[in-house]
Amino acid sequence: MTALAYSADHTDDESPQPEERLMRLLTAQQAACRADPMPDRATRIRRLDLLHNALLDNRERLIAAVSTDFSNRAAAETELAEILPVLESIAYYRKRSRRFMKSRRRHAGLTLMPARVEIRYQPLGVVGIVVPWNFPIMLALSPLVGALAAGNRAMLKVSEFAPATGDLLGQIIAGLYAEDEVTVVTGGVEVATAFTKLPFDHLVFTGSTEVGKIVMRAAAENLTPVTLELGGKSPAIIHEDFPIDEAARRIAFGKGINAGQVCIAPDYVLCPRAHVRAFCDAFAAAFRKNYPTLRDNADYTAIINDEQKHRLEECLDDARIGGATLIALNPADDELQDTRKMPMILALDTTDEMMVRREEIFGPILPIIAYDSLEEAIGYINDRPRPLALYYFDWDKGRAETVLNRTHSGGACINDTMSQAVADDIPFGGVGASGMGHYHGEEGFRTFSKAKGVVRKGRIDPISFIGPPWNNLAFRAVKAVQKLRFRRRRISDPN
Ligand code: NAD
Repeated sequence: MTALAYSADHTDDESPQPEERLMRLLTAQQAACRADPMPDRATRIRRLDLLHNALLDNRERLIAAVSTDFSNRAAAETELAEILPVLESIAYYRKRSRRFMKSRRRHAGLTLMPARVEIRYQPLGVVGIVVPWNFPIMLALSPLVGALAAGNRAMLKVSEFAPATGDLLGQIIAGLYAEDEVTVVTGGVEVATAFTKLPFDHLVFTGSTEVGKIVMRAAAENLTPVTLELGGKSPAIIHEDFPIDEAARRIAFGKGINAGQVCIAPDYVLCPRAHVRAFCDAFAAAFRKNYPTLRDNADYTAIINDEQKHRLEECLDDARIGGATLIALNPADDELQDTRKMPMILALDTTDEMMVRREEIFGPILPIIAYDSLEEAIGYINDRPRPLALYYFDWDKGRAETVLNRTHSGGACINDTMSQAVADDIPFGGVGASGMGHYHGEEGFRTFSKAKGVVRKGRIDPISFIGPPWNNLAFRAVKAVQKLRFRRRRISDPN
């Protein structure tokens, strides 16, 4: 695939080199930023409103495009997990942008008085956004909404593995914004590589941990700050006192969405040893209820492409050879060989050496790992890279508090899965191997703004009294005050 950006008049550039074409787009956006470095609230709201209306007007086309890319994606999933969250996010920033944009007064301190001290939130400039294939609308537009609310311009690199959606987004965005305002770029790894080497003012990358490292190295060359939204293995721990049927039902819902191709899908379950069999039965019953058939069931999403399907099958072969017990949940016993759909597979008796336990699954396979004490379950999580999400099922608030305090994860959800990503008013982002930085909520607005500290001095200039020659009366008075404040007031034994 060669580089292609959607210009407002929909003409493609014939430039053979992605670098040149991309640099030209960036230079145009940078020039536009310089011409309007601090867009007012009305401009920002107009940009958000355009997107809001376009999502409503193109709902059906977007649903169809995503379904084309997946060879079948449940329309309700695209509606609920892609379009609705972006509409909600627009409404969120619309309502709060005035407050978020306001400068904030800060403490001046005795040394600076009289002066006004404040933080101003300034747009960074041009934000680059790199998008994966699994939620190709939401993961493109959700960072875009935050970037636009904070007054930036943006270039989006959509995924080559969701080309129908990428093309449609390109057309829609080109119809809404000038190319120097927001633009969409398509292409494969060559374009992605050139894109991430651009000297953006901020780069948001959503994708795998491995590619995240490459992207961060490329950004480092320009000292471009990055928000890395990566993957990982998100655990779900069930406490022995929690009703196992209820846990299974809630986990089955989360794991069934997009056939497990979700960054925050429960990757594996830590289940009390005595409840493993009951969990499998309850999960199977819940899955059967949600998806009575698979093959012709439009509600059950397929795997995005053959490569991903082969990867998942390889994982299963590796587990089978290693001695794992695999339980395929295919309620109507559908023939799936000639489709890209896969049954949901529960994996028991797995070991640490197996791919299902080492690598992010990102599909409809769920290892169930038996544990004997909560301590052991917490230890298992803490021995591994920090996950993007952690799910804990327990009505006991004290124990939930212990799990939250003793584990690290990008986000967490108690007694459910996935809901933390839907909450607009909290930050979303990983930690350690699952990423860095945040978007969503006020933190998202701050991510895309420079918090510029400003001190404003008035007509009275204390330095003219206090400054050199230092032996003057005013300076001696200040020294005496400082002595009183600090030297004479030692903090009594900090230990
Ligand atoms: P990926 O890392 O393969 O690709 C993501 C994007 O990076 C694509 O646009 C691709 O073109 C680009 N890319 C590929 N190689 C590149 C390179 N060498 N340099 C620069 N850019 C490059 O990921 P994917 O397969 O599209 O998505 C699946 C992964 O994304 C999973 O690991 C999943 O957990 C993660 N993910 C994370 C989140 C999150 O919010 N944290 C959300 C969705 C997906």
